[in-house]
Amino acid sequence: MTTELVLLGTAGAPMPVAGRGGISSALIVDGRVFVVDCGRGSPSAFAQAGLDFTRLDAVFLTHLHADHIGDLPGMLLYPWGVRTGADGPLAPIWVYGPSRPSALPAGDEVFHRQTTISPDQPAPGTEDLVGHILAGYAYHLNVMPLDARMPDAGALVRAIDIAAPEWTPDRTQVPVVVLDDAGVRVTAVAVMHGRAVPALAYRFDTADGSVVFSGDTAVNEDLIALAAGADILVHQVADLDYLLRHGMDEAGLARMAALHTDVSQVGGVAERAGVRELILSHYHPAEPEAVTEAQWADRAGHGFSGTTTAGHDGLRRKLPAG
Ligand SMILES: [Zn+2]
Repeated sequence: MTTELVLLGTAGAPMPVAGRGGISSALIVDGRVFVVDCGRGSPSAFAQAGLDFTRLDAVFLTHLHADHIGDLPGMLLYPWGVRTGADGPLAPIWVYGPSRPSALPAGDEVFHRQTTISPDQPAPGTEDLVGHILAGYAYHLNVMPLDARMPDAGALVRAIDIAAPEWTPDRTQVPVVVLDDAGVRVTAVAVMHGRAVPALAYRFDTADGSVVFSGDTAVNEDLIALAAGADILVHQVADLDYLLRHGMDEAGLARMAALHTDVSQVGGVAERAGVRELILSHYHPAEPEAVTEAQWADRAGHGFSGTTTAGHDGLRRKLPAG
């Protein structure tokens, strides 16, 4: 068995920047490809990394902010034509992600929405999202097969809402088993990402080792427990001080601190989890010239006795190490 991690994109926030793709990572286990998040450019990055769209097994969404799901339609629809074999359509691509929240989050005096979009279903979950993608692209799915040999569109994708309990500060979570199949075990916990509820972190265990993806989260005990003893922790990182110096006001900064783990904190998370390597990704600020990779790694590594690596688009790691 072989397990390999590839970072497809490492930028934080929805705004496109030059020089970094949107957040997306892939884990290849014995040729099967598992993608975590589909940020901006992820299908192109998938091809650039030499990955095989016929081996795409599943997509795992950490939460439903656009920077994590914006290119999910492309990840499903662009390779549709090759999702076939001698026996007909390949098995569907599974899309796992958060369920609908129990209630639409409310705002406050400072941060609130004006118009509620889609009031009948204002906070769709993963199954809703994939259903809406198919409905929105129905023209392509229904008409393309008339002009080209396409596999049955009904076999393209299946979506699963993960029944993770919502995060609360006073309760330790038991990780939810999302997938346990042919040597790949995926577990998840809910993490703290502001009003984005539920938001998830994932752990992949294979015979070669373990890789944990933090998603977007403020420091929390459930993620640290999920990541305990992992070979690799791929963790988002923000530089809140940079944002303050570049015009973010105090209210905005307080909000950001409830959404993200700061560069001064992430090494402590990795140390407490006891992981072997911390790989930084999903950078805020996202512009490569704002904070250099050497600066990110140097600052994030404080307090961590393992290896700290500043991730970049295309970075690869094979397990087991060495
Ligand atoms: Zn994000």
